[in-house]
Amino acid sequence: MKVLAILYDGGQAAVDEPRLLGTVENQLGLRSYLESLGHEYTVSSSKEGPDSDFQKHIVDAEVLITTPFHPGYLTRDLIEKAKNLKLCVTAGVGSDHIDLNAAVDHKIQVLEVSGSNVVSVAEHVVMSILLLVRNFVPAHEMIERGDWQVSEIARNAFDLENKVVGTIGAGRIGYRVLQRLVPFDCKELLYYDYAPLPAEAQKAVGARRVEDLVEFVSQCDVVTVNCPLHEGTRNLVNTELLKHFKKGAWLVNTARGAICNKDAVAAALRSGQLSGYSGDVWNVQPAPKDHVWRTVKNSLGGGNGMVPHYSGTTLDAQARYASGVKTILANYLDHKPQDPANIIVGLGKYETRAYGQR
Ligand code: NAD
Repeated sequence: MKVLAILYDGGQAAVDEPRLLGTVENQLGLRSYLESLGHEYTVSSSKEGPDSDFQKHIVDAEVLITTPFHPGYLTRDLIEKAKNLKLCVTAGVGSDHIDLNAAVDHKIQVLEVSGSNVVSVAEHVVMSILLLVRNFVPAHEMIERGDWQVSEIARNAFDLENKVVGTIGAGRIGYRVLQRLVPFDCKELLYYDYAPLPAEAQKAVGARRVEDLVEFVSQCDVVTVNCPLHEGTRNLVNTELLKHFKKGAWLVNTARGAICNKDAVAAALRSGQLSGYSGDVWNVQPAPKDHVWRTVKNSLGGGNGMVPHYSGTTLDAQARYASGVKTILANYLDHKPQDPANIIVGLGKYETRAYGQR
């Protein structure tokens, strides 16, 4: 069996730190396991264009392992060329880089390691909310510059207490964000999701569901995006929706870059409709050097908390998703059933309700 893994280059960091498992260097710790069973294991970071290792090796691979952090975009065209492909495994959470409808049509299963990094992301979301609301980044930059002008920072710094925070998507990550916000004594915690939370879970965090998206965003001081990217969420936060945000709201997106419209967010930040935008996901990854989200600021020179895609790839998360990938492979090789929570696309059908209402 041929297993192809598209991972990111870890460079010297991955040589020095073997726990960087999701890298080309450390290969999810799978090489000796797969080779001892007589399988071929090809690992590369080269993923763009017809000459890439991805496109060269996908034609005869049986299993494809990818990660959302350095996504190998498996389009319908490539799926049609991948005559041997039976299983796609996402090392992490979020399989939108795979054309899931094409995987359904071609009976290719898509699994991810559900839950493996949801705490990692939820912690990052809470941090991102705080750094925007409290105007942290410009304050730190001022210190590095050698300056000290408290009023320049304090003029746009607030407390999270008594603010309304809402999550688009209240699944594993969204719910964990709500849980972690409880001690901050927010005015209200809201969520927008076509799947209502179980009554007990909703009560435990004191959240209120708002069923209309426009009504939802118009009540929030902070909006955090925690739903998967699919046909129903691509470009969801666009110029029209941003008009309905509270003026000066903060927006945090660690879900997927393409859920928020790149130019609409930049314009809203410049105009003051948004006070801040923060997150770690980009519509193209790696993000081009001139991507507007790298540098766009609000009128006071702050409001940007963007980082590379790493919230779900802490060393703790990498240990969990590497071990989860191995379990999925072992189940596949031994013809054992997979954990139902990990199956996004089963044989010829979606097995999850999180990728849109069907
Ligand atoms: P999950 O499946 O547990 O929850 C997703 C929730 O979103 C579900 O409750 C679903 O009903 C809801 N949803 C789907 N479409 C919606 C829509 N149109 N409007 C409102 N809600 C909608 O998934 P999760 O584990 O919470 O992860 C969510 C997403 O976060 C992933 O799909 C991935 O894209 C992203 N993620 C990012 C990182 C990172 O490192 N930045 C890591 C892990 C996951």
